Amino acid sequence: MRDTEPVVVVGAGPTGLLLAAELARHGAPVRIVDRRDGDCRESQALGVQARTPEMLDSLGLAGEFVARDARVRGFTMWDGRRRLARVEYSTLDTAFPFLLDIPQDETEAILRAHLARLGVEVEQGSEVLDLACADGHVALTARGLDEQTLTIRASYVVGCDGAHSTIRRLVGLPFDGHGYAHEWLLADVALDWDRSPDDVHIVFHASGRATVCMPLPGGRWRVILYFAGRWDAARPPALAEVAALVEERVPGPVAVSDPTWLATFQTHRRSAPAYRRGRVLLAGDAVHIHSPAGGQGMNTGLLDAHNLGWKLAAVLTSGASEALLHSYHAERAPIARDVLAPTHRLVQLTALSAPWQRAARGALVPLLAGLPPVRRQMARRISQLYAGYRTSPLCVGAVRSRHGRVRPGDRAPDAGRLVVAGRPARLHELRRGQGHVLLVVGVGAEDDAGALLCRWGGQVRRVGIDAAMDADCEVRRRFGPPALHLVRPDGHLAASGREAIEAYLGLVYGSAVQPVQAGVTSASLYELEREGTVLVRPDGHVAGRTQHASDDPPGVLRQVLGTILSGGRDRDA
Ligand SMILES: Cc1cc2nc3c(=O)[nH]c(=O)nc-3n(C[C@H](O)[C@H](O)[C@H](O)COP(=O)(O)OP(=O)(O)OC[C@H]3O[C@@H](n4cnc5c(N)ncnc54)[C@H](O)[C@@H]3O)c2cc1C
Repeated sequence: MRDTEPVVVVGAGPTGLLLAAELARHGAPVRIVDRRDGDCRESQALGVQARTPEMLDSLGLAGEFVARDARVRGFTMWDGRRRLARVEYSTLDTAFPFLLDIPQDETEAILRAHLARLGVEVEQGSEVLDLACADGHVALTARGLDEQTLTIRASYVVGCDGAHSTIRRLVGLPFDGHGYAHEWLLADVALDWDRSPDDVHIVFHASGRATVCMPLPGGRWRVILYFAGRWDAARPPALAEVAALVEERVPGPVAVSDPTWLATFQTHRRSAPAYRRGRVLLAGDAVHIHSPAGGQGMNTGLLDAHNLGWKLAAVLTSGASEALLHSYHAERAPIARDVLAPTHRLVQLTALSAPWQRAARGALVPLLAGLPPVRRQMARRISQLYAGYRTSPLCVGAVRSRHGRVRPGDRAPDAGRLVVAGRPARLHELRRGQGHVLLVVGVGAEDDAGALLCRWGGQVRRVGIDAAMDADCEVRRRFGPPALHLVRPDGHLAASGREAIEAYLGLVYGSAVQPVQAGVTSASLYELEREGTVLVRPDGHVAGRTQHASDDPPGVLRQVLGTILSGGRDRDA
């Protein structure tokens, strides 16, 4: 039976707004509540990394972000006035080879407008206080603007309620990690200095207290002073205090003026051990927080939401197995770990103060960053374009692939030199829209493509790439043989080749599983006692078994699939 209650998203920060929009776009019923009363808040996040506009492009939203005067071309590391290294984003293999410095309130405004166009309004002033799970639904207790308590029923609840998440606490998940000593200072100001406005500048200092300057739209700058010591959090720093610290730490002529926001903040490195407890899931800062070094937190939360949105919608509206939700933790937790580790290393690198450590940094950073492959790798990492899910339980039929070719779980690359109806086109543009996309490359696989679409037409759209469209063989070179590739709704390669695609779709939507009654001989062959269920994969291998039959074979099979997808134990349910 399909759930008729909505998914309730708790928290309308960037993560919650995008998740609610994705659920609505994929046709799932959704409500989103936030305890704020709609007030504007400070703009914490600034850096929108390249993987994020690429993802937003698939929703038709990238144009609104790129239209802002906010492109950053690279980042430069300095030891005083000595330039140690510069990493350029132009080497990135994407239609968005830059960082966008857009204040978080503007990002939220774009997402909120997008959500409203999909017919969903944020229910402001509703603070969730409690939750109870029973009978296949979740009951939330919330306090409204009028101080009255109300109950909200949900099929699933997603806690996107930030670092101090109430939802995480209510389901009893810890938030393991540590805070960093000392406050950091933040100042949005005019900066009169001679360094390029096209770059983020990280200026190391002998004290181990670095300064980061990020260009803001309109020729202004955000200055972040690491480890400014102990500050009274209730008192924002004065301009004169910020100016004195900048003069002390950033050599050369530099003058700070015209502040629009002065603040102190503390940073932490923490994560929860599971992204799901039954019908309650977590995303964004509610499940992982990082130091702002490297500008990763909001980007990671947005990509969590993109990963989860289509899966929850598929469970609610397309009869996909609930086991699909296990893959959310399996895919996103390693990415958060990957983000936490380098941002921590970056903080450590900026904090070096012993003379020998600074000498080593001064020698090693230019040496390593002098190597183009290292610079390219750094840019790929920080932009999150590298992030993929090769070890995901959804990666069935993963084949060996020649170096450089895309593999199941990888982000499906773009191809920028296609020609469609005489006009230039990109592969990612052709893929825009909902659902899985079946890329049919060339003309040799029409029969297989037809068979797949005949069976899975409700879930899969066909995009054909013929030789005339792909005269440079870009798609064929990047994806390699065979000619059929299935791309997931979140832009990652699901599988290549008909059998693997069948297996993947069967795993996700379950209905590929055909119950067949077997006689006593088969039962003994399969080492079942008197009864039981065996799941046979499309390639003829035994995928799993239970020792009891059921009036509801799909239910038992879903259990088996659930066990497979959760890696053998129901870790996060
Ligand atoms: C100074 C600074 C600079 C940063 N710079 C960057 C950057 O450049 N790039 C980057 O990617 N990240 C950056 N970050 C991190 C980024 O701001 C966060 O990762 C991001 O805000 C997380 O978004 P979220 O939606 O997960 O949570 P939040 O933005 O914290 O939103 C949570 C929402 O939940 C609501 N809420 C909380 N509890 C309840 C409840 N019980 N009931 C109902 N609603 C509730 C809150 O009102 C809030 O609206 C920076 C952070 C800081 C502090």
